[in-house]
Amino acid sequence: MQVKIDLTGRVALVTGGSRGIGHAIARSLAGVGAQVAILGRDSAKAQEVAHALANGAARGYGCDVRDAAQVESTVGAVERDFGHIDVVVNNAGTTRDNLLFRIGEDDWDMVIDTNLKGAFLVTKHAARGMIKRRWGRIVNITSVVGISGNKGQANYSASKAGLIGFTKAVSKELSSRNVLVNAVAPGFIDTELTRSIGEAARNALIEAIPLGRLGQGSDVAAAVLFLASDFASYITGQVLVVDGGLVL
Ligand code: NDP
Repeated sequence: MQVKIDLTGRVALVTGGSRGIGHAIARSLAGVGAQVAILGRDSAKAQEVAHALANGAARGYGCDVRDAAQVESTVGAVERDFGHIDVVVNNAGTTRDNLLFRIGEDDWDMVIDTNLKGAFLVTKHAARGMIKRRWGRIVNITSVVGISGNKGQANYSASKAGLIGFTKAVSKELSSRNVLVNAVAPGFIDTELTRSIGEAARNALIEAIPLGRLGQGSDVAAAVLFLASDFASYITGQVLVVDGGLVL
């Protein structure tokens, strides 16, 4: 028996799809036939990345997920351009790392608004169409630090733990309409977000990972593809950890 994920006919919206993990997710979704809408603050970059995707059926949109009006109008534009939205991947995220006493209010707000409020706004606007169509998949990209916490990341850990609570609550609200809501919790993935880590700390990290390597965007994308596919049609409210065994 050949088992193959096929999302032909599905429309996926990926926030922060212009680089890093989001880009790998967008590429993978397009690779299995989905039409993909890529959102990022840098509109030109989102469009450039969309044009380069395999199936030529992607579009890029400039949208700051912290801004309710921008999210509402962008979700509307995606629905007009593609007809509907089947899959949402809330991936846009940022860090402003510091020890507790050094975290300024701006850095707290920036992280919570991007990572948590952004997912709330996109989900709220995109889920309406899914409910009407009785089919939807929402995948929130959280982090292992939302489960375990991390020194110097109180703001980031709080945003990612919040996203797990949000995932579980919304999964309960939307399950009767066949809209499934899950989270993927990556460990350390090799992207711009983690490239600033010094070499010594990076090597120590790799030693602590049972599988002996940092993750790649494609490792996270594979989990998202599974949760967006018909193979996951009896799974909701879950957190799938993709971390090479780091947090057990
Ligand atoms: P990157 O910094 O490489 O990419 C972040 C993406 O999010 C960019 O496309 C960026 O585009 C977009 N973005 C940032 N802020 C906003 C905003 N306000 N509105 C819209 N888009 C925004 O990050 P990663 O790829 O490493 O991370 C992706 C997700 O995975 C994040 O949620 C992160 O927390 C999570 N994660 C990452 C891990 C890692 O090790 N890298 C580990 C665990 C979780 P633009 O700048 O144009 O807006």
